[in-house]
Parts: sequence; structure tokens; C-alpha cells
Amino acid sequence: MNEDLKLEDIVSLAKRRGFIYQGSDVYGGLSGTWDYGPLGVSLKRNIMNLWWRMFVDERDDMYGVDAAILMNQKVWQASGHVDTFTDPLVECSNCKGRFRADKLDDPNKCPTCGKEGTFGEPIQFNMMFQTVVGPNFKSVKGENYDKIKADVKFISKSGNSTNVVVPETDQLDAAMFFSKSATSYLRPETAQGIFTNYKNVVDNFYPDLPFGIAQQGKAFRNEISPRDFVFRSREFEQMEIEYFVHPEKWEEAFEHWVEKCKEWFNALGLPADKVHELEVPEDDRAHYSKRTIDFEFDYPIGREELMGLAYRTDFDLMNIQDNAKKSMEYQVKGTNEKFVPHVIEPSFGVERALMAVLVSAYREDEQNGEKRIYLALPEHLAPVKYAVSPLLKNKPELVEKAREVYKKLAKENPGRVMWDDNGNIGKRYRRQDEIGTPYCVVIDFETIEGDGTVTVRSRDTTEQIRKSVDQI
Ligand code: ATP
Repeated sequence: MNEDLKLEDIVSLAKRRGFIYQGSDVYGGLSGTWDYGPLGVSLKRNIMNLWWRMFVDERDDMYGVDAAILMNQKVWQASGHVDTFTDPLVECSNCKGRFRADKLDDPNKCPTCGKEGTFGEPIQFNMMFQTVVGPNFKSVKGENYDKIKADVKFISKSGNSTNVVVPETDQLDAAMFFSKSATSYLRPETAQGIFTNYKNVVDNFYPDLPFGIAQQGKAFRNEISPRDFVFRSREFEQMEIEYFVHPEKWEEAFEHWVEKCKEWFNALGLPADKVHELEVPEDDRAHYSKRTIDFEFDYPIGREELMGLAYRTDFDLMNIQDNAKKSMEYQVKGTNEKFVPHVIEPSFGVERALMAVLVSAYREDEQNGEKRIYLALPEHLAPVKYAVSPLLKNKPELVEKAREVYKKLAKENPGRVMWDDNGNIGKRYRRQDEIGTPYCVVIDFETIEGDGTVTVRSRDTTEQIRKSVDQI
């Protein structure tokens, strides 16, 4: 791992080589959103598929679900998100910049205009994106409009972050007001879609305790200050497990997941000395948690949270039981013992994992007197495993043979073989090094005129050896 690495090096490589672009870039971007290009999609999928294989497919105590992103608003009222999923927001009275109070380097100094003492008291800003389900609006026209507009302004001033539309101009003679009962939210975590399906899985599959339910998918948070590339985005991807346990056995399950998380970091190729366990003190824990470990990683932006592991007690299932008036009890098979299980939750963020993978893989060295950048990605994560080239692209006999080799490898490694005949061979190697391709396969005159072997060049050592195509 490169100790002098800057975040800009990663951002620039990601853009230059087609991993990650700013969201809506052609229109000036949309803050906190990122688009994955062809190689980014592959890397992200490889990470997510590895997770699913390790934590769902290769275990017999795990069940997968894929719940809807839009959920009944009662989910978020019962879970506490409507009331408490907030970050403290301060506004600078001089430049009107808005910041997350607990993330300011100097709580008294505006990071934009540099003035001191311009922040008022923080307000609690709810990070959920509200939306409306169905055509549930009332349209108001004419003389009622001014009165209602004034009322709406009043609501907004009180700091209530509802989604009421305040028309910008009096030219509008109609305003739309959405019915409260139609409110929904873009989910801020995938966990609730697991809890709401707990009973379905228990009733359909009769799992023994402990067992887990896993889900991967998008989550949305209206972060006050999205920053540090994909690290703090407004739309991101989570991979979460709710692991249901007997209330008296939560400690052993917690330790089990500490070990499993470490195996996961290892599979991602993260150096063990760059990952740190932070035992979160009670005052800093989420209200539902009796124990939390944040796994932190040494990013170029400093040591920051990579993922979290929390003991959520029976908080969520009891909330559902109380609010939905449906029993969440689990009956131990062959006994009369019944209880609401407790939960250990490992919560993984895909973007932060992907960023840690890129940071861990980024290398610079010198080859033939020139600086070289390469990504030493683990082979199972690299978007491209083999790049296949004819030595010269204007020699039909080389191209034909190279196409043949390409087809064979592509069939054996679907989606992981790239045809690359752009530029000279040196340029191709540099490009493939930068995207982390472990092997470049080159078809040259010896292939067609000699013993049929091809050159296989290794990314990390740049060593070239000759192999028959069957040996690759
Ligand atoms: P932070 O304190 O950094 O805001 P958090 O403690 O609120 O994070 P959790 O609610 O525990 O985060 O979410 C679980 C995981 O989801 C995090 O460990 C992280 O990997 C990921 N995550 C959370 N918020 C974001 C975000 N805005 N952008 C990217 N990933 C995120």
C-alpha cells in the first residue's frame, strides 16, 4: 500500500480509466451521486458477489431477501428514523453555507468563508429523502393560493423538513400539496426490509436459531455535506445481515461476526494493519445498540469507518410487534420456549469497501526509467482477468490467431476477458496495469510460426513467460 497516496490519485484514476464518474456530469453534476462506468460496475459486482457467496451461498444458516426500496411510512416511524435519523446542521450567517456540526474541523470557524462565530445553534436535520406514493395531491388555485403559500412558508421556517413544495413565483396560480398519508421515504438502510420479512422467512423456512437474513441494495441519505469521493454519498449501496440469536447467546454470535468481518477484509486484499476495531462508547452508539464495533480503515482522508457491527437487541422486532400488532416470537422447535430473538447486525457499505480495495491496490514503481501506476487487485476482484492482444494489429494472421485465443478465454472466463489492440504494446500494458488486469496475453510471430506459445505478462512483476494457450 502506498503511504503517500492522495484521494485525488484514486479519483483521477477512477475517472481516467472508466471506473467511476460524477453523477449527471454533463449537466454539471449532482452532489453526492456517482455513476459507475464499465470497469467500476465489474469491480463493484465482483465485491458484492464475493460477499453474497461468502455470507449467503456458502453458509447454511443464511437466507437472502431483496425487499422493495419504498416501504410503508409506518416502518420508519416505528424504527425511530422519522424522529431521530438526524445529523446536527449549522448555517453560517455570513456565507449561508451549511455544514454538519459534528464534522467541522473548527466548530467556530466557517470552512467556506473563514469567518468565526457565525454559526447559530445546530438544528437536527432529518436525512431521509421523502417522496410521495401515487397521485395523491390536492391542487389549490386562485385566492386560496396566497393564504396556503404563507402557511407553507411558516411550516418550512419552523425547521420541519417536510417535502411541501413552495412555489417560487406568484406567476403560478396553482400549488400542489401532497397528502401526508401518501408519504414514503427512500430507504436510508436496507436493514428494515430484513426485519419486515423476518416473520415470512421463519414461517416459510422454519430455520433453527441462530440464523441470518441478508440483503444487498441501494440506500439513500440526504447527507448535509457529501464528500471524499464515494465515501460519503447521498445514494449508495449496502450489504447487511441481521443475525437472529437466542437472547442469552448474543455474545458468542457477536464474536463470530468479528472473525467473519476480518475474513472478509482479507478476501478484499486489505492489509490487516490498516483495519482497526473501534469499540464505540455508549454515548456514541445508536439508541438501539448495546454494543457496537466500528471497523475503520486508513483511507487517504484519514482513519474512517469502513463498516459497523452492532448488537441491536430485540429493539427492531419489538417495535414491529408493538406497532404492527403481530407476534414476532420465535418458538424453539419441539419445546414450548418462545421469545423474540435478539439481533447481531454486520452492516457493510459497498462504496467504502470499494474505496478501501482501490487504496490497498494502488501502486507506483519505475519500469525502464519511467513511472508506472498499477492496481495490484486480488485476481478474483479484478474487472478484467486477461487482456488479449495481437502484437501488431495490421498483421491479419496475428489478429486472426489472437481472436481465436480471445474467444477461447472469454468462453472460459465470461465477462472477464478484454480485447485490446489500441496503441502499441507498451501503451496497452500501461493501460491494463492501471485497471489492475493480472495477465496480458500477446499473440506474436512465434505463436503462428514457431511452437504456438503466446506471451503471458504478469502485472505485478512485469515478467513475461511463454505458455501454450491450453496452459493459461
Ligand atoms: P457515518 O458515521 O460515517 O455517517 P454511519 O455510522 O451513519 O456512518 P451506518 O448507519 O452504520 O453508518 O451504515 C452502515 C454502513 O453503510 C457504514 O459503515 C458505511 O459503510 C455505509 N454508509 C453509511 N452512510 C454512507 C454514505 N453516506 N455513503 C457511503 N456509505 C455509507
